[in-house]
Amino acid sequence: MKKVPGDAIPSRFRSVEIDPELCNGCNMCVDVCVMDVFVANDERGKPPRVVYPEECWFDGCCVEMCHRNEEGAIRINTPPAMKVSVASEEAVSSWPVGEPRRGGKKS
Ligand code: SF4
Ligand code: SF4
Repeated sequence: MKKVPGDAIPSRFRSVEIDPELCNGCNMCVDVCVMDVFVANDERGKPPRVVYPEECWFDGCCVEMCHRNEEGAIRINTPPAMKVSVASEEAVSSWPVGEPRRGGKKS
């Protein structure tokens, strides 16, 4: 199957979206992303290119490090399945660890 370049995918379907109006091209997100999802723009001051969106881990480091994230320069489109797993994690964390299981044994 032929690979579609990341920039050819409509931004709403990409794992990471950069708003070219709000991004100043500082490339902090490029530097912090361990998965090399971005490539710095050839033109200085322009937004990085999202070339490998499928490699994204959704860890949020790029958003965390962006000094314009509150304005909305960059955002992650977390897949619905991962949002559900976050909810499940909350449920798991509230599980009473060490409480006796049925049958009397400690977990
Ligand atoms: S860190 Fe934010 S402002 Fe800097 S290049 Fe990335 S999206 Fe743009
Ligand atoms: S969320 Fe993580 S893996 Fe995805 S683009 Fe940002 S820094 Fe890279």
